Amino acid sequence: MGIDRKELRWNGWGWRDFENPLEGREEAWVWMADQLGMPTLMATPGKRFEDLSPPPNQLTPSALHDIAAIVGETQLRTDNFERAFHARGQSYKDLLALRDGDLGSAPDAIVYPRSADEILRLMELAAQAGFSIVPFGGGSSVVGGVTPDKTDQRPVITLDLTEMDDLLQVDETSGTATAQAGIYGPQLEHALQVQGVTLGHYPQSFEFSTLGGWIAARGAGQQSNRYGKAEEWLVSARVATPSGLWSTESFPASAAGPNLNQMVSGSEGAFGVVVDATFRVRKTPDEQEFRGYMFPTFEAGAEAIRQINQADVPSAMLRLSDSDETFFFQSFGKIGEKESFSDALADRYLKFRGMGERPCLMIAGVEGAAPDVARSKHDIGNTVGAHGGISLGSGPGASWYGSRFASPYLRDPMMDHGLGVDTLETAASWSHIRALYVAVKEALSGAMRETAPRPGAHGLVMGHISHSYEDGASLYFTYVFPRALDDELGQWRKIKSAASDAINENGGTISHHHGVGADHAKWADREKGEIGMAILRAVKKEIDPGNLLNPGKWLG
Ligand SMILES: Cc1cc2nc3c(=O)[nH]c(=O)nc-3n(C[C@H](O)[C@H](O)[C@H](O)COP(=O)(O)OP(=O)(O)OC[C@H]3O[C@@H](n4cnc5c(N)ncnc54)[C@H](O)[C@@H]3O)c2cc1C
Repeated sequence: MGIDRKELRWNGWGWRDFENPLEGREEAWVWMADQLGMPTLMATPGKRFEDLSPPPNQLTPSALHDIAAIVGETQLRTDNFERAFHARGQSYKDLLALRDGDLGSAPDAIVYPRSADEILRLMELAAQAGFSIVPFGGGSSVVGGVTPDKTDQRPVITLDLTEMDDLLQVDETSGTATAQAGIYGPQLEHALQVQGVTLGHYPQSFEFSTLGGWIAARGAGQQSNRYGKAEEWLVSARVATPSGLWSTESFPASAAGPNLNQMVSGSEGAFGVVVDATFRVRKTPDEQEFRGYMFPTFEAGAEAIRQINQADVPSAMLRLSDSDETFFFQSFGKIGEKESFSDALADRYLKFRGMGERPCLMIAGVEGAAPDVARSKHDIGNTVGAHGGISLGSGPGASWYGSRFASPYLRDPMMDHGLGVDTLETAASWSHIRALYVAVKEALSGAMRETAPRPGAHGLVMGHISHSYEDGASLYFTYVFPRALDDELGQWRKIKSAASDAINENGGTISHHHGVGADHAKWADREKGEIGMAILRAVKKEIDPGNLLNPGKWLG
């Protein structure tokens, strides 16, 4: 059932015993320092768990007794490891705090409910006894979505939903399935695929995130061009709220007023706890292929993606890296190696084909029945060619596919070496994409330079188009910078604010798929406007009058 929390890192990504992919690769740190204008990188190991202790537990013995009476002793945890594990999510800001030994946000108790009824009874108790509740799936939020708000004076219980993890039904006739919300990605896909169907939702956090978290944060998987975002594949949900159990409508389409599923996806634990959900599934594809293409410029690649979408050519993924990202990943993988003859040849071939010094790599994925896959590949190839791009064959695609969940494991070793690593994402219509891309890159670069720990040091910004639509696309940025150790939080805040303001001012949304949480609340407020926010706050007040659920997040 679920994943034993002790198998996971409490202050970093993934399995506790996962081997450091950069172990012993000193040349990688020398290269990184050089790229960032630093003479050398600093050693910044995180504090040891044994040396830390969470703040005193605010729940009285009688409150703990009442909780245990609802869920049973085994489902209630108050030990230091569970409190530390649930103190925060996985954002850069979260990791700064955890690695610094700051467990100030640890919940007072963690409860692993097993049914909707238990959750409803816990909500009743919370209303009477005066504590708040944070719903928690995999805890992979990167926007402060699962961090208890300690400005709220009440004790906090975190509801860890990962023991509610059954696939309940597959309705082959309708092409839908129903599962409990706490099911992890791999477990859900396995259970579906043995029945011949797939949800096809593969975020990079797939291994450690849950169905409920995907819905609550309006997530997007890497193959969302084919399978859709969470709000698109969600059919209906059962949501436990302080006002009772809310079941949303489950029609393929309806004109009976606004579709309330749209209120559930994106609710980020503030309107209720998703207990289980029905979602659209597809037959597992007969064929799947990911291929690499190279473009001379980012603009040429972006234009090709726009045309592929607007010509209705089916794709599962069109992921276009800018030249900095292409360069970084190609170079990083080969640091310390001598250039091989075949690499040199490939380089010369690319230059001969007009790719210039800093070309841009696109990985295109197509899935489905064999003839459809062949047709899409052909149409994509033609559009790429018409925009000056060339095919690199299936090698780069297979390599990307094989390591698509691996790069988050690089972050912990990088943080051990005085580096900050953060990501952000946005989306905009095609007519705004170019200006948005430039503005965010400039804002990030400027803020990283301004907050660098020494003159001449700077950050690296890598961008890519991650998801695309007929009318626009999502842009994703990864940025790496030398940390200003005397004010790390201030540095994070300046960089984040500069980029978020640039997004707000250049036609982008503050989030395409990470959600709002605490970190994006200010910008989401601006985006939705006064009337929009008033509507959402009125819903919250109606459904959760005591503000029990995830206080202090996207609704303020
Ligand atoms: C390395 C890494 C890569 C990532 N890649 C992607 C990506 O490719 N695509 C993407 O979309 N996101 C990505 N994310 C962000 C994150 O994984 C997603 O937001 C994911 O949907 C969160 O799922 P979770 O189960 O971990 O939810 P949590 O982090 O536990 O919770 C997220 C929010 O949902 C609420 N919540 C959780 N479960 C429920 C429930 N059952 N009912 C009500 N509210 C609930 C929480 O209170 C919180 O507000 C990534 C994160 C990391 C760290």
